[in-house]
Amino acid sequence: MKKHLRTILEVLLAICLVATAALAYMNYSAKKHLADEVAELTEQLDEAKEALEKSHEEAPAEQAPVAEANPTANYELDALKAAFTNGVVLQDVETIYKSQKTLTAERQVGLASLRLLTKGAQDESTVAAFQKALEMAEWSNRLQTVCAAQNALAAAGQKVKVLSDCKKSGEEVADKSADSHGKKDDHGKKDGKAHDVHWGYEGDNGPEHWGDNFPVCGKGKKQSPLNIVGPFEKSKDTLTVDYKEGPLKILNNGHTIQVNVEPGSTLTIGKESFDLLQFHFHRPSEEQVEGKNAAMVAHFVHKSKEGKLAVIGVLLNEGKDSAAIKTLWANLPPKEGEEYLPAKVTFNPGSMLPKELGFYNYEGSLTTPPCTEGVQFYILKAPVELSKAQVGKFPFKLNARPVQSLNGRKISAGG
Ligand SMILES: [Zn+2]
Repeated sequence: MKKHLRTILEVLLAICLVATAALAYMNYSAKKHLADEVAELTEQLDEAKEALEKSHEEAPAEQAPVAEANPTANYELDALKAAFTNGVVLQDVETIYKSQKTLTAERQVGLASLRLLTKGAQDESTVAAFQKALEMAEWSNRLQTVCAAQNALAAAGQKVKVLSDCKKSGEEVADKSADSHGKKDDHGKKDGKAHDVHWGYEGDNGPEHWGDNFPVCGKGKKQSPLNIVGPFEKSKDTLTVDYKEGPLKILNNGHTIQVNVEPGSTLTIGKESFDLLQFHFHRPSEEQVEGKNAAMVAHFVHKSKEGKLAVIGVLLNEGKDSAAIKTLWANLPPKEGEEYLPAKVTFNPGSMLPKELGFYNYEGSLTTPPCTEGVQFYILKAPVELSKAQVGKFPFKLNARPVQSLNGRKISAGG
């Protein structure tokens, strides 16, 4: 039985990458430079195959499953599974393939494995169909496929570790993906460069149209923000915040005011450590508590070494002047798009937090395109205050995505 499990896991690992690549292929196949990449990657594939065979010989039959024995592989599998769990990828692939009379063996494998990953390996008929498709598959270009899958997912904002063998062409592939769609966006990237897809908060670019260019925004089932209403489950998580003072780096990225944070400020959830990357603002607050928005919210965005994202939300109500906001607003960037480092100004992100770290927790998404899911939100129960004049000085009158459907998610409370 263990042997059987090992095989399934190993096959899953290889195949789920192939599956994702099936989609990526369709986007890349029209591109001219592909031939060169294929040649180079085929070479790299041989090395990878050798390594794989070697690891086979060395591994005793009753050893732990391959995916478990190899943390990197295990992580990639998890990331891909997470990308598939809401069924969006499967639906996309099924829709596209429906218009084709015959499917290549590779695409059949891809489709079968997507179904397997989405619907679970418990279903015997799904497994059987998968194995049949597998027998027909051509494996000679696996590494290429793996690279295409990883780069495509990374470009789509999924947290995927890209194999070092794939990294050479990674940047290029991401660019290709961008112009094949003609509608990528780089919101959230540190440099805040100009880009050719416009999204915003009103009219034709508003949130109800984000899904046209960014499918997860329209079809995702675990989207943020939420209206926070009970009953709440009890959360066992504990939040420990250790933010450090550092030079102020402030940016108007066209969608919000963002403060980029030097490495060293951390959030610990249970035993897991996250680095604070940046914080930014929305007006009004994106989250609602019992149907009510706060005047604003600050989102503190953290990332773990494994690439997991956790956001702390601090609700800002109108009240008395905030000294922290005073410092930030006094140093608003003179123009859009460039990080601004006012001379001799330091800032401690901790000065934005309330004393009490009681929270509401749920699993959600980035609240801006591409709306990537798998983000843990901790909205602090205790709001902080800023003055009405300070709210008025924030350069964006409206930059909040409306609340999204709960879709059966549970909100927990803790702290
Ligand atoms: Zn935000």
